[in-house]
Amino acid sequence: MLKDSFDRVIDYIRVSVTERCNFRCQYCMPEKPFEWVPKENLLTFEELFEFLKIAIDEGVKKIRITGGEPLLREDLDKFIKMIYDYKSDIDLAMTTNGYLLKGVARKLKDAGLKRLNVSIDTLKPDVAKKIAQKDVLKNVLDGVEEALKVGLKVKANMVPLRGINDGEIIDVLEYCKKRDITVRFIEYMENIHASKDLKGLKSKEVLDILSKHYSFKDEGFDGSSPSHYYVMDDGYRFGIIEPYEDDFCQKCNRIRLTAEGYLIPCLYFDEAMSIADAVKRGDIKTAALVLKEVIKNKPEKNRWGGEDDEASNRAFYETGG
Ligand code: SAM
Ligand code: SF4
Repeated sequence: MLKDSFDRVIDYIRVSVTERCNFRCQYCMPEKPFEWVPKENLLTFEELFEFLKIAIDEGVKKIRITGGEPLLREDLDKFIKMIYDYKSDIDLAMTTNGYLLKGVARKLKDAGLKRLNVSIDTLKPDVAKKIAQKDVLKNVLDGVEEALKVGLKVKANMVPLRGINDGEIIDVLEYCKKRDITVRFIEYMENIHASKDLKGLKSKEVLDILSKHYSFKDEGFDGSSPSHYYVMDDGYRFGIIEPYEDDFCQKCNRIRLTAEGYLIPCLYFDEAMSIADAVKRGDIKTAALVLKEVIKNKPEKNRWGGEDDEASNRAFYETGG
């Protein structure tokens, strides 16, 4: 079992398979980064898999594939199948912007993917175009329908932004509720890569809007999920992710692996250690030591909302959010 210095069990790894993206979301990557990481610097799926086997053997139970946009990477279904064939009861999930989903949802499900999180920030084509800086909505929604059709469990993520999509909180929730998709409203996390002047809604503001339309009860956190859940009278659940709140980090059970092989102990901080050389040499022992060292160094909490509340240097498109 992997435990950090604050006695938190670490059993969840988020793997970013590419930092590249076909969107330029204002809160994440408004401009193309000055240079993409050259493709030859990315770990191959075989190398990533070698590392994941170590992590699984050490007690990791959940793996989420993310990015950048993970569906930009070819043969992703084969990577998913490698993991599934190694341990079929791994909770295998992916976060995607949904743009390319329609054509591959069946393949991903057949390979062993269980769950998907899709970013649905709006249901208005012009607003989607404003946020992603590309005409994306139809593809995203078609992708969601296909994922549901092939039997993938779907959750939605919405980042409510003042003056942009904050008038659509009810509409997005209703869209999701009709399809039995759990929606999670994520507070915008300030980072130096996002567009300037963006303002996100705080959880209290989102709850105020929702409470004018629905009655619901606070269910608290569900296991180690960062999402605070609420349940409506008819049983529908929605979540709020509040990284600015103190209890966000208390039950954190995750670390992140970038496409280049950096293991990152916390979403906020810049500290990372590379497993790339070890994995490329087939030196499993060293890779396992790096994994343990990173977990030992995991900080107690992020700094959003703290006394010295700062924008993070971390790029969400590298860490996978
Ligand atoms: N491209 C995929 C997508 O958009 O779903 C996966 C990667 S994206 C970095 C993962 C999640 O991070 C998305 O749900 C996105 O909304 C969220 N995200 C990105 N930047 C964020 C920010 N500054 N604050 C809050 N959430 C953010
Ligand atoms: Fe791409 Fe996802 Fe970042 Fe948007 S949030 S730019 S879709 S990585």
